[in-house]
Formats: sequence, structure tokens, C-alpha cells
Amino acid sequence: MRALVSDGPERLELREVATPRPGPGEVLARVLVALTCATDLKLARRGHPKIPFPLTLGHEFAGVVEAAGAGAPFAPGERVTSAVSGPCGSCDDCRAGRQNLCATAFERPLFGAFADFLLVPERVVRNGLRRIPPGLSDEAAALLDPLASVVHALDRVKAQRGGDVLIVGTGPIAAMMFFLLRGKEKRGRRGEEMSGAGRRIVVAGRREEKLRFFLERGASVARIASSSRDPQAAALPPLLFTCKENTTAPPRIESRHGEGAKFSLIFDTTGDIGVISELPALAANGGTVLLFAGLPEGARAAVDAYAVHYREVSVTGSFHYTPRDVDAALALLAGGAIPASALVDERRPLAQWREAFDLVERGAAMKVALVP
Ligand SMILES: [Zn+2]
Ligand SMILES: [Zn+2]
Repeated sequence: MRALVSDGPERLELREVATPRPGPGEVLARVLVALTCATDLKLARRGHPKIPFPLTLGHEFAGVVEAAGAGAPFAPGERVTSAVSGPCGSCDDCRAGRQNLCATAFERPLFGAFADFLLVPERVVRNGLRRIPPGLSDEAAALLDPLASVVHALDRVKAQRGGDVLIVGTGPIAAMMFFLLRGKEKRGRRGEEMSGAGRRIVVAGRREEKLRFFLERGASVARIASSSRDPQAAALPPLLFTCKENTTAPPRIESRHGEGAKFSLIFDTTGDIGVISELPALAANGGTVLLFAGLPEGARAAVDAYAVHYREVSVTGSFHYTPRDVDAALALLAGGAIPASALVDERRPLAQWREAFDLVERGAAMKVALVP
């Protein structure tokens, strides 16, 4: 079979490898589509401290069961999608419902979907593999992994009622947050925990073409300019912030509307430390800042302790997801909560992986579906 193998940073090749055979509890899936994701791009460029090379990229997929190992509760022909982690189910974290923090959940993650076939490890089969409901498209089903992490993030702040929301970042995660929050607002009573009369959702980012995506779908947008003299900084109404960069100090976000812009919920999807440091100041009294994006080990951000104490601003985080979040995400996808066609811009044959990666990196596509 063909697989997009990375032998080291910047060393990628689509080549013939042996088709894996499923052992006990494992499942071999024939890949229908696999979506590009920033995680794969990062792995291809820089590698990952915990994932050794060589490795086959790709982890957001929809497929068909080709063969099931002994004891795996799946049958050939079933259409499936999957979570990527395999929590143990028996450690303290797992027993407390924090399977996302299980120390061994990533020992054998699901990886290798940019290929004709994908082997799903035993623990992932047990806790993460899901049958795709009839009527759900391959592309939409393949969004299960990123959407589950968004579901988890929203669950972490469900007690935060009402008020405006700021989403920092303009990628697929930001888009899924936007669609879910907007959906909850519309659903009214059923989504009560997140809704609020007139709740405004503001998306902040650097790339104008990405901000347009959100503007066209009803979000307010804010441009984070790379410098105060950035000619594009004034191009997009309604503009809320500008981010000045300074060689000696971290970038500064300033509200164009002075003290007026206060958010009850702020999600950071960028992992940009300079930006993160400024977020508590943008939170309303009693508001919450949630750090969603991955950060390098040892990352530190200065926190406005004054805001934390005198204005009861909370700073929290969310990492990955639990099997419960996966079920919730699949139900949301089946219910049409996420317009997959807005997130997956196009289909390309697997052989065109280079062009697909390029489209995503240039910001010309949110996600591309690679078809083996
Ligand atoms: Zn991903
Ligand atoms: Zn565990």
C-alpha cells in the first residue's frame, strides 16, 4: 500500500510499504478520506519530542473496516471514524473521568491516515473507534477528533453564562468553536448553559482573508495587526484590537474601544504567549480565559494577578478529550451542527499531498481532504 512517510523533519515521501495485518483487538481500515491538520504540518516540519520518526502522517479520517482482529467488536464493511488516543480505563485519571489526562493514552495513538490503509491500535478500538451514522458524509465524520477537543473545551467553561465571547485565532478549531457557540445561542433553551441574550462572538486574527470567513458567517472580527502602522489594520470593520509588536516587549493588544471590550469568555487557539499574556485584561469581571492551543514545554505567560483577584478573572485550560466528548461530537456532527463543507475546502488525491499542505499553510484552505 502507499503511505505518506516522514523520515525526519522536512523529509516526506509517498511510498510503498507493507499493508499492516490487524492483531488481536485491532482493526484495519481502508481510508476513504483523511484531512489535513496543523498537527501533521508541524510534525512534518519540526518533528515531535514524543513521536519518533519514521512515521506516517494523518489522523483525521473516515474509512471502511477492511479486517478486524480477534475480539475487535467491528465487522468488515462498516464505515468508521475515530478518536486518536487510547486511555487505559483503569488509572486514577481514567476512573475520575479525566481519560484525556491518562498518562498512557498516547503510548500508541492512532496515526497514519495519509495512506491506503490504517491500523487502529487495540486501545483506540476499545475507546475511540466509532461507526459513522448513516447520512453523515466522510468529510464531516473525519472532523470527529478536532471537534471532540472543542466539545471538551466548551464543557470546561459551561458554567460561564451570558456575555460576549472572544475567540483568538482563525483556523479550523476557531471555526468549530464559532459554529458550536453560535448554534447554542440559536438553540436557546436546550443550549442554555452557553447562551445569552445578544451574546456577541468576536474572532481575532492576523490574516484578513481568514477573518473574512468569519465575518461572512456573522461573527464580529478583530484584526491583530503585526504593527501599529500596519496599513491593513484599519481595513476591516468592526475592528477592535490592534497588536503592536516591539522587539523588547511581547506584542500588546490594545482595545480600540478602550475599556469597553470585555468578554465573559476568551478562547486562545494560537498558543502565542505574547497574546495570551494580554487576554486576562480583556476579560469581563468574573470572566474566563481558556488556553486551548498546544504550547512548548516550559512555556510561561505573565498573568494579570490584579485582574484574577479584584475582577475574579479565571485562567484555565483544556487538553484533548474524553470518550464522552467523542460521543457528544459524533452526535453534533450527525445533527448537522458543523457545516463540514465550510471547513473542508476541497478533495485532492493523496498523491497531491504537497499541494494540499501548501494550500493550508498559505491560508488558502481551512482543511483539504486527501483521498487515497
Ligand atoms: Zn488534528
Ligand atoms: Zn488511564
